[in-house]
Amino acid sequence: MTKDNRKVALITGANKSIGFEVARQLGEQGIHVLIGARDEGRGKAAVEQLTSQNILATYLSLDVTDGTSIKKAAAQISKEFGKLDILVNNAGISGGNIRTPPSQTDIDVVRQVYETNVFGVTSVTIAMIPLLRLADQARIVNVSSSLGSLNMALDPNDMFYGINSLQYQSSKAALNAITIEFAKELEGEGIKVNAACPGFVDTDFNGHRGTKSAKQAATIIVKLSTLGADGPTASFRDEDGELPW
Ligand code: NAP
Repeated sequence: MTKDNRKVALITGANKSIGFEVARQLGEQGIHVLIGARDEGRGKAAVEQLTSQNILATYLSLDVTDGTSIKKAAAQISKEFGKLDILVNNAGISGGNIRTPPSQTDIDVVRQVYETNVFGVTSVTIAMIPLLRLADQARIVNVSSSLGSLNMALDPNDMFYGINSLQYQSSKAALNAITIEFAKELEGEGIKVNAACPGFVDTDFNGHRGTKSAKQAATIIVKLSTLGADGPTASFRDEDGELPW
């Protein structure tokens, strides 16, 4: 078990893009970052890169759609650290073309996206809650999207009004609801649970059409991961402030 007093953070899907940058920025604050990755090679390469920047990082094998993998990851954190201070549920997928009309959506794609974005986050969170309860003022951040906002989806003035992706948008709307439900349960224990929208980010996720850097996108996630006791819970935010659910 860890002998120092460092905070420990698990970031899912941390081998690249936004998750990697969140890990880097949390690591820069002296937090020991656990690089959750489903591929050992990619995960260890990310750890190497962070270690070369003097960040304390450890690879953690974690496929968020695999119950056995989640159980093993929780057992490893328990054995090596005895607690978890921060959980960032970042791993997420779009299901391919987000311009496919709902009526032409393949139900198997919907199931795949929900396995990662909804059931994956839920399973990882449930598995990590006992470890989060052992930390002082733990924080959970769910990486959502403004595309999951029901209010924004109905706003003709919203810049993404034309996007109507059944699998992706409904998965992030479900994730937002899940955020509120965990937040309500854990509020009395000092654990804050919030949803973050990173913005439209230049990553593999959207074929690098995004306009924001992963570095900039990570800042709201890092902020919500390190909130003080007076910070919000059950909120949905991007870097400019609160978003409508
Ligand atoms: P990305 O470049 O596609 O990276 C996704 C990360 O998630 C990768 O590390 C990937 O691992 C990992 N992952 C996917 N499925 C996984 C699984 N089953 N188990 C473990 N890891 C898994 O995406 P990104 O742009 O960084 O997006 C990160 C999050 O931000 C997602 O939740 C996304 O919905 C959200 N978001 C992104 C944008 C944007 O514009 N990019 C906007 C709003 C919200 P592999 O390398 O092994 O595939």
